Amino acid sequence: MYLVILCSRCGQFLIAGEKNKSRRCFYCGERVVVSRAKRVGRAETSREASALAQHLKLERAKRKTG
Ligand SMILES: [Zn+2]
Repeated sequence: MYLVILCSRCGQFLIAGEKNKSRRCFYCGERVVVSRAKRVGRAETSREASALAQHLKLERAKRKTG
């Protein structure tokens, strides 16, 4: 199982395996603790999680621009 989480510092979407304790945000370098991060989605494979993160990113961008 893979999770889509939000970076606690910059809000970037990150993908974490369920066994990961933390992830380094590739965007701002923050170490994000998976158990404390906001979870916005989950998927069976890293590929699906990646697609989901892309989708959520687009949806968020749409909301921002109205
Ligand atoms: Zn970040």
